[in-house]
Amino acid sequence: MPHQSITVAGVDVFPLCDAVGPMGASIRRPLPEMFPGGCHGESDEWILHFHCYLLRDAAGRTVLVDTGIGPEDSPAASWAPVPGVLGAELARVGVSPEEVDAVVITHLHSDHASGAVIGGTPVFANARHVFQRAEIDAAAEDVLGNVVRPLGERVQVVDGQADVLPGIRVFHTPGHTPGHQVVQVGDLVLTGDVVLHPAQLADPKVPYLYDDDPELATATRMELLERVRAARGMIATAHFAEPFTVLSPA
Ligand SMILES: [Zn+2]
Ligand SMILES: [Zn+2]
Repeated sequence: MPHQSITVAGVDVFPLCDAVGPMGASIRRPLPEMFPGGCHGESDEWILHFHCYLLRDAAGRTVLVDTGIGPEDSPAASWAPVPGVLGAELARVGVSPEEVDAVVITHLHSDHASGAVIGGTPVFANARHVFQRAEIDAAAEDVLGNVVRPLGERVQVVDGQADVLPGIRVFHTPGHTPGHQVVQVGDLVLTGDVVLHPAQLADPKVPYLYDDDPELATATRMELLERVRAARGMIATAHFAEPFTVLSPA
């Protein structure tokens, strides 16, 4: 069943479920190895959802947060469970790719960035694509060639905090990758891969095997979750089964 939308601070937030399934064998590990110190006594199988989000403000302007796994020949195909269905999910909420005004890519991992350019052609032709400078600076050559360069003048590089639209803001949240960013609207934070599994809500000190810099990722996660909890806010996650999680003060 499709995930339901919510409205926060006058902005409609539509979860787009790009895929559901376990990671492929090439990188799959038992959960206690993926999240050392967390996930004890649970099933070892992690069934991920892959969520992108479409934000639509009161003026009808749209921001797409992340672009998913991409098609069958995507770089994510080596490990993602299935090809992504972002296009169909966007159509379900009544938005065509040409109508997207801005794209925020939380980070350049292949399950977040591979729907932006397909067959060398930008999918969201009229959108600027917002990246943190640190993410571009750290990107591998193949990622620059497959994702960033084909976007040409659509690339918008920001340093740290920046407004994508009034009331829709990105923040630099390094650790999972050097230039990871999250998106905040009202008291909702779209967390990308700052938080990957509910075990990291129970204990934010639990690292993730594939964090680029686990110590920095943990510090970022703790600070962000504490800030959201203090505001009794909500997070919208990329890989939880349910898109939205309300946080209350610990
Ligand atoms: Zn989902
Ligand atoms: Zn990632």
